[in-house]
Amino acid sequence: MTDKPLNIVIIGAGVMGACTAYYLSKNPSCTITLIEKTDIACGASGKSGGFLALDWNDHSQYLGSFSRTSFKLHQELAKELDGESQYGYRPLDTYSVVFDPKGKASKDSLDWTNPSRSIEQIGTKRTTAQLHPGFFTRKLLEEAKRTGRVEIKIGRGVSKLIYENDRDIGGVVLEDGTELRADRVVVAMGPWSGKLPLMNDTIPISGSHVHSIVLQPKDKIPGQALFTTIMHESKTFEPEDETVYICGASDKEPLPTSADQVVVDAKAIDALIHQAGHISYKLSSQNAKLIKRQACYLPISDETGAPLIGPHASYKNLYLATGHSFWGILNSPITGKMISEYLLDGQVSCVSQDVASFFIPS
Ligand SMILES: Cc1cc2nc3c(=O)[nH]c(=O)nc-3n(C[C@H](O)[C@H](O)[C@H](O)COP(=O)(O)OP(=O)(O)OC[C@H]3O[C@@H](n4cnc5c(N)ncnc54)[C@H](O)[C@@H]3O)c2cc1C
Repeated sequence: MTDKPLNIVIIGAGVMGACTAYYLSKNPSCTITLIEKTDIACGASGKSGGFLALDWNDHSQYLGSFSRTSFKLHQELAKELDGESQYGYRPLDTYSVVFDPKGKASKDSLDWTNPSRSIEQIGTKRTTAQLHPGFFTRKLLEEAKRTGRVEIKIGRGVSKLIYENDRDIGGVVLEDGTELRADRVVVAMGPWSGKLPLMNDTIPISGSHVHSIVLQPKDKIPGQALFTTIMHESKTFEPEDETVYICGASDKEPLPTSADQVVVDAKAIDALIHQAGHISYKLSSQNAKLIKRQACYLPISDETGAPLIGPHASYKNLYLATGHSFWGILNSPITGKMISEYLLDGQVSCVSQDVASFFIPS
């Protein structure tokens, strides 16, 4: 590497862009410009459940060790950055619960929920945790900026890439026509990654629309996560100490051009409010205040279902960090670390070569 710092542009200030900037910023041999079209953590990275699990991807040889490493990086980050007070990081117990509002309930239940049909503990404070994803994303960027090597530009998106020739990327062009030259470009645009025009093809990523609500119950509820099935309806449900986060199933609403245009459907929100009352009377509309009604898009990796992490096979100097679907918060530290190693060392050492090659964009 020459003495001149490596000039890197990252597109997108969701959790992937933030983790990439954070790990890159530790190295003085690079300068980083992060371009965000709307706002930091304005998409799924600010609206997800922030649930983390050590071993829930163990069914896959590659994803299993990737997620385990990322869970441990979260533990390290929480210690380094005081995650507990800075972004609500906390280990918790996790349960799978089936509610049947019309049927018989068993005696087994948690002391704050309605009686359930069945309940099983599926995670402990050693294997599951939760954080506030928007605060986490912002904290990483705050730390990255503190190094003096990271500039964040908000409010103008990237419209296209600069090509030195057909296959060499030399920077990005913003929506107002401004050109930013770069030695390397990282695409961390979540579900919008598939909208970035390439010379001859597209990045195979799309978006899946999901609603969520945050409730503030009058009574305190313990820090636990529930993955619930309400017979005839189902969803994921994750309470925090003073607020309760609930998200629903995905629907077919198409991806808009930017995060501030995402549609929030009143009927989908009403359904979540209604379901909350089936889980606990403490979450009924009489006993809990609705403080957030929101929707966002999961980034879906259309060809393999697995995240795309690493150098693009067809374009030099172009790197992808996208397509993480339901586990993007969990897998963001390992993704940022892998991209920083690709860019600065030319190869990855934080996971095995076998694992790294599983995620390389083809
Ligand atoms: C309802 C829901 C619940 C979830 N719960 C969990 C969970 O409990 N645990 C977990 O691990 N994961 C969870 N996830 C998944 C996780 O939230 C996502 O995988 C992750 O946030 C994706 O991060 P990202 O940075 O790739 O994308 P995003 O957060 O979408 O960020 C992409 C950014 O790129 C910007 N952008 C777009 N176009 C441009 C452009 N042209 N120029 C510049 N910037 C641009 C956008 O404005 C946005 O800020 C959940 C997701 C959803 C939808």
